[in-house]
Amino acid sequence: MNKTTFTMNTITKLSFFLGVLFFSLNITAQDNGFVRQQFIPDGPICRLPPGEYTGLTSSLRNEAVLEKMRGGGTPCSNFVVNYTGFTPEAQTAFQFAVDIWSFSIESSVDIIINANFEDLGGNTLGAAGPLGYFTVDTNIAPEAMPNTWYPKALVEKLEGSDTDNFGLQTPDISASFSSTFNFYFGLDANPPANQIDFVTVVLHEIGHGLGFTSRRSSDGTIGTVINGTTRNTIYDEFVENGIGASILSFTDPSTDLHVEFTSGDLFCNGPIAVGQNGGVPPEFFAPASYTPGSSYAHWDEFIYPAGDLNALMTPSAAQGEGNHNIGNITLGFFEDMGWSICGGSLTVDEFEVADIEISPNPFTSSVSIKLVNGFNDDYTVDLIDINGRVIMTENKSANSDTITLSNLDKLDNALYFVKITNDITGATITKRVIKN
Ligand SMILES: [Zn+2]
Repeated sequence: MNKTTFTMNTITKLSFFLGVLFFSLNITAQDNGFVRQQFIPDGPICRLPPGEYTGLTSSLRNEAVLEKMRGGGTPCSNFVVNYTGFTPEAQTAFQFAVDIWSFSIESSVDIIINANFEDLGGNTLGAAGPLGYFTVDTNIAPEAMPNTWYPKALVEKLEGSDTDNFGLQTPDISASFSSTFNFYFGLDANPPANQIDFVTVVLHEIGHGLGFTSRRSSDGTIGTVINGTTRNTIYDEFVENGIGASILSFTDPSTDLHVEFTSGDLFCNGPIAVGQNGGVPPEFFAPASYTPGSSYAHWDEFIYPAGDLNALMTPSAAQGEGNHNIGNITLGFFEDMGWSICGGSLTVDEFEVADIEISPNPFTSSVSIKLVNGFNDDYTVDLIDINGRVIMTENKSANSDTITLSNLDKLDNALYFVKITNDITGATITKRVIKN
């Protein structure tokens, strides 16, 4: 988005920001001692440009999403969209994208989007981001990382209530889309070679608004993750380089961070995303030249080109590229960050969510994993911390259907992952568990 249009857009936002800032004076410690911190960003974190045409591609909605929609099923989340300036066909396409998200992720709290259809000028198809970052009250949501920025919609999901605590349902996401671009507004993921698919662009930008986002920045020499604030986002917790060094292990700000941002060597170590990528950490976009609005906050365009099932969150959308599938690697990363996936955790190969029971969750001293359908193979169960370190490994023979991880009292109260691997086929499934 260029500066002029952002200024226009800012007028709407400013009233919201001022409202929040005004109310923030009234924030006091909760009974449990938690004092919420907040940060209101000054602009979107992604400005999506058109990509180079590389051929016609079409990825339809994920089968799991279609299955839930077919049965006249209830969506797992409710999006409320405040539309401004939309043509009827643009609004219909926008709603189509919103519905895909509502059948993909779960929240008991309405997710409110301020959506503008306006002249963004230049080279921008769309731009979006969360309307606020907050710390999470871990008394209410023990699975959250303390003292970490979470996008507003995710805070609300984790705590099960609206974060402003004033009984007001304020917007969570701001999103703007070009009213002057030659978009394809069809709903069939089948844009012609000379048009960009609007649904694809909307799906992408909502993904940023929901938390595929970081506050990272670089001036071309010095990089920062916290970017003028005092803490990192939950996204940054899962970024590491090729030798496994967390992006948070570098001095901030520093030239070292800029080097990492431009290294072509940054990966996601979220256990569920890794599981969805066949056990290999998926790669982030970190080109040699730092690109504001693109670098670090997308998957690598070359690893996930147009037509790949996980291409949605790459840094551009090309003419002829229709993608209505959020992609399981991306959904896995959302689950790593704290979202729940509609219909339960993600499945891999022969695993089905219903096959596995983990209890109790949250756990205190031990946790049991039951493979309900009595599998006949041998399994390995790993307990993994948020930094991807394996804390404990147990094996399960074919003849017992429950395995228990014990003596866990000394673990920090935090989010962990249980990874179950079929020793014969190598298939895995990873689920989040909470110690408290
Ligand atoms: Zn983007």
